[in-house]
Amino acid sequence: MSVSNVPFLDLITPHVELEQELTNVFHHALHTAGFVGGPAVENFEKAFASFCTTRYAVGVGSGTDAVRFALMASGVCAGDVVVTVPNTFIATTAAISQSGALPEFVDVDERTYNMNPMKLQEYLERKCTIDDAGRLMSRRSARPVTAIVPVHLFGQMADMDPILELAERFNLIVVEDACQAHGAQYFSRKQNHWCTAGTMGRAAAFSFYPGKNLGACGEGGAVTTNDEAVALKARMLRDHGQARKYYHDVEAYNGRLDAIQAGLLEVKLRFLAEWNQLRQQAAAGYGDLLDSQIGVVLPYQPMNSKPVYHLYVVRVADRDGLQKHLAQAGIGTGIHYPIPLHLQKAYAGLGWKAGDFPVTERAADTILSLPMFPQITREQQERVTDSILQFLLLKPELAIA
Ligand SMILES: *Cc1c(COP(=O)(O)O)cnc(C)c1O
Repeated sequence: MSVSNVPFLDLITPHVELEQELTNVFHHALHTAGFVGGPAVENFEKAFASFCTTRYAVGVGSGTDAVRFALMASGVCAGDVVVTVPNTFIATTAAISQSGALPEFVDVDERTYNMNPMKLQEYLERKCTIDDAGRLMSRRSARPVTAIVPVHLFGQMADMDPILELAERFNLIVVEDACQAHGAQYFSRKQNHWCTAGTMGRAAAFSFYPGKNLGACGEGGAVTTNDEAVALKARMLRDHGQARKYYHDVEAYNGRLDAIQAGLLEVKLRFLAEWNQLRQQAAAGYGDLLDSQIGVVLPYQPMNSKPVYHLYVVRVADRDGLQKHLAQAGIGTGIHYPIPLHLQKAYAGLGWKAGDFPVTERAADTILSLPMFPQITREQQERVTDSILQFLLLKPELAIA
């Protein structure tokens, strides 16, 4: 990395800082041949459950596995409809499909980019009917709607109180996609306390992909839950349907977290709270530097939300122009995500069209993720914001704020 460049993400520094402790994990695994399962996985699961304040955490092979196992263990069946949002990573909907269910979408909130509870209500009241057996049926697909997957996008929790209220009213399972939100908090007025991501649904899914707030040195994920039966089922699903070796209650998957990743994750987990705080400080830093700058819409942080800024996403009219300008200045950026899921080629057969989810579509054209990682310096942030201001001065007519 050259001194003058600002990377989108620095995955090297935190690992170099912890090199000795991380190397010890490899050493221990090599000398005990503990590669899959065993105490390293159990210890990490206990530590991660404690971090999330849930009773159980089940280590799995990836965040995608975690979403799939969380859905299946919570009671979603083949043929069901699971409602989620179109502006998420495709793993959310891929996992829904892999569970045998069909994803359907509701649009997001213009300011938080998370599931809009009013759109969810409209979907449940107007786009569904109750059949003779009393089941809530999607008019679109004539299948029973059984679950909702709110995604805590960019590290900010979805507005869970109204979502949970609707879930209760319509008897739906809630599975949180918390893959970007390790440690994020939401003040529940209903429960009258701050709730951590992963504690509010029947189950939740976390990813430990290297770039996530807590990342493995490879692949990993976890299902969290307070429900013992859901935890047991998730354990069976990740391990070929066996609770006892070679006694298979169901045919399932190889979706285990390996012991080396668990050991590495346990070391890194000790720094997660501090890293999340540094991300929040960096977000506040961007806020100061870009505050009241006409032409840039900053991330919206409601009073009842403590996001962990997995990503720092701004909006500008000429997003592609700004991204190019920043790239020329040696500044890395990302777009999360450029094509809404309902318009992806993978879902072309499902009959959605441009205009179906306008808030998501507008966001996709104007959002830009700025460099965000715990070790980013004030000087690096100033380089980013100076470059943005320079670009906006060149193009005042494009202001949208
Ligand atoms: C990363 C991510 C996933 C999938 O996690 P993997 O570990 O990459 O399988 C799922 N949902 C969201 C929102 C994600 O960001």
